[in-house]
Amino acid sequence: MSVPIASQAATPPSAPAAGRSLWLASGLFIAQLLWPVESLAAEKLRLQLRWLHQFQFAGYYMALEKGFYREAGLDVQILPGGPQAARPISALLAGEVDFAIANSGLVIARLRGKPVVALAAIMQSSPVVWIVRADSNIYSPQDLAGKRAMLLDAPESAELRLTLLREGLDLDRLQVSPPSFDPQDLVDGHTDAYNGYTSNEPFWLQQRQIPYRLINPREYGVNFYNDVLTTREALLEQRPEQVEAFVNASLQGWQYALDNIEESILLIQQRYAPEKTMEHLRFEAKELKKLIMPELVQLGHMNPGRWQAIADSYVELGMAEDSSDLDGFLYQGMTQPDHRLLYQVIAGAALALLLMAIVALRFARLSRRLRQEISRRKQAEQDLRDSNLQLERVANTDPLTGLWTRLKLEEVAHNEIKRAERYGLPLSLLFFDIDHFKVVNDQHGHDAGDRVLRAVAQRVQAQLRESDCLCRWGGEEFVILMPHIDLEHAAVIAEKLRILISNEPTAAQISVTASFGVAQWQPGQSLRELVKCADQVLYRAKQRGRNRIECYAPAVVPPPG
Ligand code: GH3
Ligand code: MG
Ligand code: MG
Repeated sequence: MSVPIASQAATPPSAPAAGRSLWLASGLFIAQLLWPVESLAAEKLRLQLRWLHQFQFAGYYMALEKGFYREAGLDVQILPGGPQAARPISALLAGEVDFAIANSGLVIARLRGKPVVALAAIMQSSPVVWIVRADSNIYSPQDLAGKRAMLLDAPESAELRLTLLREGLDLDRLQVSPPSFDPQDLVDGHTDAYNGYTSNEPFWLQQRQIPYRLINPREYGVNFYNDVLTTREALLEQRPEQVEAFVNASLQGWQYALDNIEESILLIQQRYAPEKTMEHLRFEAKELKKLIMPELVQLGHMNPGRWQAIADSYVELGMAEDSSDLDGFLYQGMTQPDHRLLYQVIAGAALALLLMAIVALRFARLSRRLRQEISRRKQAEQDLRDSNLQLERVANTDPLTGLWTRLKLEEVAHNEIKRAERYGLPLSLLFFDIDHFKVVNDQHGHDAGDRVLRAVAQRVQAQLRESDCLCRWGGEEFVILMPHIDLEHAAVIAEKLRILISNEPTAAQISVTASFGVAQWQPGQSLRELVKCADQVLYRAKQRGRNRIECYAPAVVPPPG
């Protein structure tokens, strides 16, 4: 790797030239002020990847090959991961490498007191999924009960474990086995659910024309970052400019890779991963781009709220003890403009004007670059605001029915419960579940089942007020939160909706009915407790023959005295 010319300006002369004048010393001092970025020493920086060379790391290869690291005064070496390689976080903490790519489990290390810092999240969503055969009867996590499922080690499969936990399915109810890393096992029927990546095994299955289905944690409200660029706290404290330059050049590499996918995969195939076909890399690129979401989110973006939620999830899974202290875990450099450079340039410019015209000329060059940088950052901040809004919309909307997701209901319920508490207003919740829906799938096929779900959602939504919040709770279960409505009124509405669903056939001329559980919020109750009450009476409605409503009667507390 060549040494950048500018870095030579920072190298002190080896022997003092005879009669070196104050003039020359001042000149060197000003040069230092004027080229702060280029003057970083071009010492070797090592980046540890998470796995073998593939498109997953395209941005880093492109930053190297296109000279973005070199232009930033950095000399970077990329080390592949894999079964034989060091684990990225251990290698980083041991000081063997300066940067590493980790999954969301990085935050566990931080919660255990390890000085790791998250610099940028490349994948806004995780590719971890269960892959099942299309001819199996597994459509949702609940369908995995009693089935054989592969599961990676805990941090690598946290998304899947959390999905089961949230869906109320105990791990003991599955026949769990470690991953074989051979999708042929799924084809041969040695397992029912294969723990894989959206970007990998589906290509293998498509090549062999084997129909499959994905059980994706994202559809159940579990949304983790993946491929997070990380470093040690000490490096960030000692050499913040170098870390910032590395992050910026890496993201520039990612932008280049995503804008020039064909060129990038050709380069990856020739230089890094000769054993992969172009077609495979192309498939991987297409799938990963969906998770990187470059048109929605600023590359590398991290949201403190989402990291907190991820940390809380690890506590819920028993993989960490306390998620209250994430101070210093998130790199701030990307959100706060760095004014140090500006001050340095202003001071340098004043001296330069006094000392020599040639330096002033160079200053003009640098200030032009700085203006470009400021306007780029302003634009980036605006893009970030826009993309956050869009991302929120995607996370809050159920892709099948277009209804709110459980995530959104939790947000709405949080505010409504506070309002009900403050003003003493009634608040009710309806929980309904389509009856014998499995039979619909079995008799008419899964696509028809999907159309029924959409039709029921539309029919119910059309009856509700603006202030009611209808969400798809999961599978064929729906929840409606109704502010300002008491139990009696909620029961009337539930009965109306029950008749509405059962009255005429839904899509595809399929008739369905639904059972309803109705509960009114009691002071001090959380959303979880309220849902539990409604769920309890929904169960009773099922037991008493279905296609009916049942109301939850809270225990009467005798007045004091
Ligand atoms: P019950 O009256 O007791 O509610 O019986 P059920 O058959 O409706 O209930 P069960 O929970 O046994 O089955 C629910 C079925 O819903 C199983 C699952 O395959 C199916 N399902 C879940 N999500 C979807 C989906 O997105 N689309 C389709 N078509 N089916 C789904
Ligand atoms: Mg049902
Ligand atoms: Mg159900």
